[in-house]
Amino acid sequence: MKHHLDFSYESRPVRVVFRSGAATTATAGEGAALGLRRLLVVCGSHGAATAQAVADSLGPACAGLHDGARMHVPVEVADRAVEVARAAGADGCVAVGGGSSIGLGKAIALRTGLPLIAVPSTYSGSEMTPVWGLTEHGAKRTGRDPVVLPRSVVYDPELTLSLPVPLSVTSGINAIAHAVEALYAPDTSPLVALMAQEGVRAMAGALPEVAADPGSLEARGRALYGAWLCGSCLGATTMGLHHKLCHVLGGTFGLPHAETHTVVLPYVLAYNAPAVPDAAAAVARALDADDAPHALRELAGRLGAPRSLAELGLKEADLAVAAAQTAGQAYANPREVTAEGALAVLRAAYEGAAPEFPAA
Ligand code: NAD
Repeated sequence: MKHHLDFSYESRPVRVVFRSGAATTATAGEGAALGLRRLLVVCGSHGAATAQAVADSLGPACAGLHDGARMHVPVEVADRAVEVARAAGADGCVAVGGGSSIGLGKAIALRTGLPLIAVPSTYSGSEMTPVWGLTEHGAKRTGRDPVVLPRSVVYDPELTLSLPVPLSVTSGINAIAHAVEALYAPDTSPLVALMAQEGVRAMAGALPEVAADPGSLEARGRALYGAWLCGSCLGATTMGLHHKLCHVLGGTFGLPHAETHTVVLPYVLAYNAPAVPDAAAAVARALDADDAPHALRELAGRLGAPRSLAELGLKEADLAVAAAQTAGQAYANPREVTAEGALAVLRAAYEGAAPEFPAA
């Protein structure tokens, strides 16, 4: 956050519908409002039943269902989906599911220019961003292109009722990470800061209730509302050390996305806090806590989430490699990331130690 009012903010043309039951009652109307008549529904093999219900609700505007989404959008999976979309004569796509399904919808949009409607079932936030990702020969490429930003997003808390508690918790903290990094992003702004603080507050408040009562539509709704706000922050700003580290840990070492975010976040925030005390204080206020990194680690632990990279299968020998990769890249971060600094963050996260670092 900045003391002086000096910012740029671009609002992006996304329509958002948020309502229980909206996946099967509002998606058809969103397609019609966009003038779309042949929608291809895409999903992962896991979410096929939900996606089928969405497809059925489209009636004659459904051009087919393709359940080929896979984690991190392998290029051959994207190629196949583009073929299916062309063969079906689709004039738009509806992606139903988590970040992997929405990622496939974005890949189709990137290749074909077809407009995308997103119906998210996790808290990943991908639906609110113009960021695409494709994986080829084990390396994930990402980029920004307005064509992949969904034209319309249909949030339906009922879709998230089936999200297992461990994934709800880690996906929720993944969302919080977007808001945290948005607060100290070089392109943060007053509106982003408002969304970030409300997003953290909503998500951190809802997660213990989701964990205690996964069937509570009320708690699920507040978590999804938080995910929308946090995803909006992700789409509006440039992410820093946290997202870069998680990208390296996922891309090079195959660590799971949401769990890795959950483990790493307190450590990166502790590392960056001395450089951005206002942002750290804003996160703490949103968490109703004195110290944001400790509160985040405590929240994850209390809700049964993994707390160390060792638990996630990282090897001690990988720490130096990951640190060198993280320090060797250019990206925005409020505190300089030296190889030693990156290694200190990684080592503490590996051990699950207290999230505390010297200021310099
Ligand atoms: P995901 O989509 O792979 O889903 C994780 C698992 O949960 C899958 O097995 C899926 O089938 C299952 N699942 C999803 N919704 C469910 C539900 N409601 N009930 C039961 N099971 C459900 O993972 P994710 O965490 O949603 O997204 C992570 C991916 O998205 C990563 O590849 C990440 O890089 C990408 N991502 C991209 C952006 C972006 O802006 N481009 C933003 C965030 C994440």
